[in-house]
Amino acid sequence: MAKIIKLDQHTANLIAAGEVIERPASVVKELVENSIDAEARNIEINLVDAGITEIVVSDDGVGMDPADARMCVEPHATSKIRDKQDLFRITTLGFRGEALPSIASVSHFRLKTSTDGHKGILYSLKGGAFVSEAVIACPRGTEITVRNLFFNTPARLQNLQSQSQELSHITDYVSKIALARPDIAFKLTNNDRVLLQTYGNGNLLEAISQVYGLEIAKHMLSFYESVGYFQVSGFASDLNVSRANKLQITIIVNERVIKNHAVTNAVLAAYKERLVIGRYPLVVLKISADPALIDVNIHPAKLEVRFSAENELLNLVTHAISYALHNSELIPEAEEKNPVPLPPAEEKAEEEFLDIGLEEETHFEDDLDELLRMFEVDQEEPRQYPKEELIKEEPQEPPRFEQQEYSFIEEEGERESLLPKMYYIGQLHGTYLLFQDEENFYMIDQHAAYERINYEKIKRELQKDRNISYELLIPIKLNFTISESLLLAERIEELRNLGIIIEDFGSGTYTVREIPIWIPKGSEREFVEEIINAVIKRGKVERIEFLDSLAKNLACKRSIKANQYLDKNVIDYLIGDLSRCENPYNCPHGRPIIVKFKNTEIEKWFRRIVT
Ligand code: ADP
Ligand code: MG
Repeated sequence: MAKIIKLDQHTANLIAAGEVIERPASVVKELVENSIDAEARNIEINLVDAGITEIVVSDDGVGMDPADARMCVEPHATSKIRDKQDLFRITTLGFRGEALPSIASVSHFRLKTSTDGHKGILYSLKGGAFVSEAVIACPRGTEITVRNLFFNTPARLQNLQSQSQELSHITDYVSKIALARPDIAFKLTNNDRVLLQTYGNGNLLEAISQVYGLEIAKHMLSFYESVGYFQVSGFASDLNVSRANKLQITIIVNERVIKNHAVTNAVLAAYKERLVIGRYPLVVLKISADPALIDVNIHPAKLEVRFSAENELLNLVTHAISYALHNSELIPEAEEKNPVPLPPAEEKAEEEFLDIGLEEETHFEDDLDELLRMFEVDQEEPRQYPKEELIKEEPQEPPRFEQQEYSFIEEEGERESLLPKMYYIGQLHGTYLLFQDEENFYMIDQHAAYERINYEKIKRELQKDRNISYELLIPIKLNFTISESLLLAERIEELRNLGIIIEDFGSGTYTVREIPIWIPKGSEREFVEEIINAVIKRGKVERIEFLDSLAKNLACKRSIKANQYLDKNVIDYLIGDLSRCENPYNCPHGRPIIVKFKNTEIEKWFRRIVT
């Protein structure tokens, strides 16, 4: 008996929805892309409960006539391509004709649209089934309302994350599309609160400022370069701004936001040796290319594209950004080069001075003196030594061995040493420490040893119920994207438990006032940023597991690197600490710390004994 049947339309739509519509952000993306394809100049996205309850996207685009309005929710119905030839010259964001039927099949869907701005049509469906149709008065354009998303697919509904996480996916997307289309005005609200608004005047730098804030925009360098069929342009952050992840590298190809590893790496190549390891720039990279050179039809969400002549493009990207960075380096910016974040207290004090100054001048002068004195001390800070000189000056300064200040490994009832008693012989290549005892010769990888010690210490500190923190003299100012801010706001308490006291300063700026005492001096910012980023991104992992992986990441941050010559007393401390570790044999990533050669083994090498 034949087993193959043709699926009914509704089932087919649900399957397509499974591919394209994963979460509220996918709905927003598909609807906004349709509005862009409809040549809208203004696009508004209004959400209720991060889109889980309701998503309304309205535009002032070309609209649809009644026949098209009925047709657009049918599968494979599109106005954007006619035949297979068109597939090779796609200039619109959509072309599959899958989005609307998919969305309509998993929601309460309502469409209002008009092509002339007088008469329009209202068309509604529930779970893909027709509900009603009416002729209405309606401005030109289209408004689509999606309510109760996934009401008929409980598994998908269950899989949704918290509202702030879902919202952050949406703000991420809208931020990027707003950067891709500075010529379109976007407005995004959630429960009536405006999260993002751009003005659509076509100025990319202005859009950057609306998305990332003015402070970041001031640090963006423009670049432009072209070869025959590719043209790259955009803005790249200078070296005073960086992030702990790559997410703010936005790649736009022919006005489509895409993901592409090779291009991201080409961007990073321009910053190689300019930014420290683990720091990433903010970049808005626009690539214009002949549509015939790109294939967007390889991913259902159209996020990935394939390029012909890819290598040429990659070189062009690296070169253009490198050149902009290089030029900016030639311009001396004494103040900018060494950014000591201006303490908000000072800014505020200045403002207050202006205000109060008019009324009560006399009182204030004392305060001002005091204030100046306070900041005099801090202003001494920025020294201009190049990095290498600093290292030469104090070559023996062990990065984490602030013994006097803070005991490294707590001696809880003096654990029995797992290491043999060894005598130090010397150091090899600034990387391995050599030891001996009666029977053996030992080599220790100093970097791996430090990593292990740091890891155990940090893990212990993180796992404490309450971290002891201290107040920073100069608070650390940090910038976050809209979506990061949303997640951060929800996790302030979690950070407090880890000993980080952080305050919202508005428009993505946060101030860290207190940090845990175990964070090594000089690495405050780096550690705090890493911790906050980890907390923001934390998925559904257990706390213990989470803290463990955080400790691993932090441990390798400041561990001593290979190629560093160590002083004898530093080595003593190192071995002392290592011997008190739970596991002195492997670094947190599992590589060996210590290897042993038996004397008999060595004698065999030299044929002193015969086997
Ligand atoms: P695609 O975008 O791949 O063509 P969709 O399912 O997203 O498929 O949309 C189907 C069709 O509905 C589009 O081709 C377009 O003609 C029409 N459409 C959808 N949204 C809009 C809109 N906001 N304004 C005008 N027409 C629209
Ligand atoms: Mg579409």
